[in-house]
This record gives sequence, C-alpha cells and structure tokens, in this order.
Amino acid sequence: EGSVVIAGGGQAGFQVAASLRQAGYPGRVTLVSEEARLPYQRPPLSKTYIKTDAAFESLVLKPDGFFEKNRIDLRLGERVEAIDRGDRSVTLSRGGRLAYDRLVLAVGASNRVLPIPGHDLEGVYQLRSAEDAEHLRAGLAGAQRVVIAGGGFIGLEVAAALRALEKTVTVVEAADRLMGRTVSREVSAFFLDEHRAMGSEIRLGTALSAILGDGRVGAVALSDGSELAADLVLIAAGVVPNDRLARTAGLAAENGVLVDGTMRTSDPAIFAIGDCAAFHSPFAEKIVRLESVQNAVDQAKLVAETIVAGEAAAGVAPYRAVPWFWSDQGPFKLQIVGLTAGADHVEIAPLGEAGKLVAYCFSGDRLLGIETVNRPGEHMLGRRILAEDLVLARGEVARHGFDLKSHVA
Ligand code: FAD
Repeated sequence: EGSVVIAGGGQAGFQVAASLRQAGYPGRVTLVSEEARLPYQRPPLSKTYIKTDAAFESLVLKPDGFFEKNRIDLRLGERVEAIDRGDRSVTLSRGGRLAYDRLVLAVGASNRVLPIPGHDLEGVYQLRSAEDAEHLRAGLAGAQRVVIAGGGFIGLEVAAALRALEKTVTVVEAADRLMGRTVSREVSAFFLDEHRAMGSEIRLGTALSAILGDGRVGAVALSDGSELAADLVLIAAGVVPNDRLARTAGLAAENGVLVDGTMRTSDPAIFAIGDCAAFHSPFAEKIVRLESVQNAVDQAKLVAETIVAGEAAAGVAPYRAVPWFWSDQGPFKLQIVGLTAGADHVEIAPLGEAGKLVAYCFSGDRLLGIETVNRPGEHMLGRRILAEDLVLARGEVARHGFDLKSHVA
C-alpha cells in the first residue's frame, strides 16, 4: 500500500497530505510537525494577528476532524531528527522510528539571528510562528517605542500594523531601499513614501549594531553612530532554509535542499518542497528558493501527483507554476507575479490615481513580471500572460493609453 512520511506540518507539508488523499492515495500518510499545533497559515501573523486578539483557531488550515477523516496521522510537537536512507526510515525526537517509501521534506525556514550584542535581551522578538506572534502581541501591550530591524515584507507589514496601534515605529534597513531583494526600485520608492506618510520613521542604509539594556531592551545602537530609545525590538532580517536534516543525510543542498523539476532530491525516494527547497525555475533561469504560499502549495500538489502516479511518474510535467506573492502593508496590497528581481527596465503605467501602481518589469525585451499596488485586475491578467507565455512588448506598454485588459483580450 505504501507509506509517505512528511517532515514539517506547515503550508507545504499540510498540502501534500491533503492532496495525497484527494488524489486517492491508499497508503499511510504521517505528518510530523515540530510545532505542537494544527497546521496553520502564517501570512496573517504579521498583518492582523499581532494587532487584534484573534484566536489561534482563526489561522488553522483545517480543523481537527479533517485529519481523522482523511486518515492523516498527525504527530504534533515532534521533530524528524535523522534520516536513515539505507533502510528508508526516520528517527523522531521522542525516540520512535517511522518507515517510509517516500519522504517529503517540508521543513521550512528559520529566522536569521543577527550576531550583534544584546540580541538575546528581553524585549527582542522575532516572527515566524504563531507562538512568536503571541509573544510579540503580549510584549507590545507594555511597549510604545518599537524598532524593527529589516525593511522587507515582514518588517514593513508589522510597521504598518503597529502604526494602526499608534506605536512609535522606526524601521532600520541596511540596504539603500525597502524590499530590495524582491521588488523594483519604483515599488520600493512608493512604499518608502507611504510608510513615512503612515508615520513610521524609515532609516535606509543603516544597520543595527547593538541592542542595549540591562537585562531588557532600553535602546539600540545604529551603524551611523546614533542611538535610539526603544522598548521593543523586532528582528525581521530574513530567513535561512532548514536544510541541515537533509545535509546530514548526505543530500545535495546549497541555500536549500536541491531538487529537480519534480521536487526530487538527490535521493529519488525523498522530495523537498516549499521554503526549504532550491530548484531551477523557468521564470528566473537559475536556481531559486521561494518563500511564498503559492510556491509551497503548488510544489506540494506536484509531489502528491508524482507519488500517486508511482511508476508512471515520468509522465508528470515538471514544475512550472507561475510564481506569485502578496503583501498587505496598511491599506496597500502589493501583488507580484513573476520573478522580477532581475529586471533591468521598469515601465510604470500612468494611472492618474493616488495609492495605486502598476510596474511592468522587463529584462531586455522579455517581461519578467508585474508588480501592482491595489490593482488586482492587472495582477490576475499578469498571471495569465506568464502562464500562457503571451508576448507583451516593452514598446507596447510604454505607448500612450496602453490598456492591459484590451491587450490580453
Ligand atoms: P513552514 O510554513 O515554515 O512550515 C515548516 C514547518 O516545519 C514548521 O512548522 C517547522 O516548525 C516544521 N519543522 C522544521 N523542521 C522540522 C523537523 N525536523 N521535523 C518536523 N517539523 C519540522 N507568503 C505569501 O505568499 N504571502 C504572504 O503575505 C506571506 N506572509 C508571511 C508572513 C509571515 C509572518 C511569515 C513568517 C511568512 C509569510 N509568508 C507569506 C511566507 C509563507 O508563509 C511561507 O512561504 C510558507 O509558510 C512556507 O511553507 P513551508 O511549509 O515550506 O514552511
């Protein structure tokens, strides 16, 4: 009948289990999750969860009964400690062993720890899990002056949420622009203005050099020599993939577990998906590791399909789902379709409407993707353009009166 063991019960791990059952997989499915909670979605953590008293139940992907009904054996609060590839089994943190025919690594990523003095003081927080968010929420109750280290998606989402709570917010970003790894300069500039208008202080080109305090945070020292008083510090400086388990088992890994077009690692019985997996993307023409719900879900579905296909798996088409992403920062919904980081030319559509933006990102003449703010229509059309490989010429977009809808129709 077979047996699939899934390491990691986040977005990707949950989806593999659910999709296996949906596709009629008859064997055993075991989902081993380090967090002692039902699988849940992370995106609300930095947007709504920290600023409301929402219950954890509002985050869960499926209620308890779903796992029982679908014969998904949930092992919560337990880690996969080691993989024995020779006899196809894993060792669990409570000492048990589980045999597998197929193993799926969906172990996600961990927050980067800044190696600076004071990073372990009381009042310093990070945000990856629901537990982190609950700690942060509790800490915020007694804090007014908040410093956020990192002007990426999570740092900025939190900044906007905390401004809504009327906290005094300073975002410190080492690079010369916001979200610099993932969006165009034009979109960075848009958000810089809007965050300042929301009342956050944004310091670009500045790094946190130390967190000061006697037992608990009192101030931060910055790379420009200045000091800022602070009651609470959030470190939002990106993540590193959890690829140690795979490395220790001798699987190829480099900034993530390396997988082929069907998410297989260098051991064909083992797959890796989601935030922990590095793969060759046709949308970037290089090896990438994506941190998005879309990527976790689509890779999980492909793996479930491949496992169910069994011997016929050679016929399963390789991964080429269009990458897309969103980030809600105050009243602004940023949506990105495609991998736009390598763009060398950006065409901004003249909309004549404040608070909205459409940026077409090109590499040479090729459209890499579209970044939009509060323009869901163009985002959805962008997904179609990339999925169907439709041509959108630079000159066309730059033309006066260009309208994407009539172009795609
Ligand atoms: P995860 O969801 O991180 O799950 C991995 C799980 O594996 C974790 O529970 C971990 O504890 C567990 N684990 C690790 N090692 C082991 C082990 N050895 N044994 C057992 N279990 C283990 N994406 C978007 O597209 N849009 C957004 O707006 C957005 N907002 C986000 C906001 C926040 C605050 C965060 C943290 C992420 C956000 N993301 C967003 C990213 C998105 O949530 C991730 O890309 C997605 O969760 C990845 O799924 P995953 O299953 O690969 O990893």
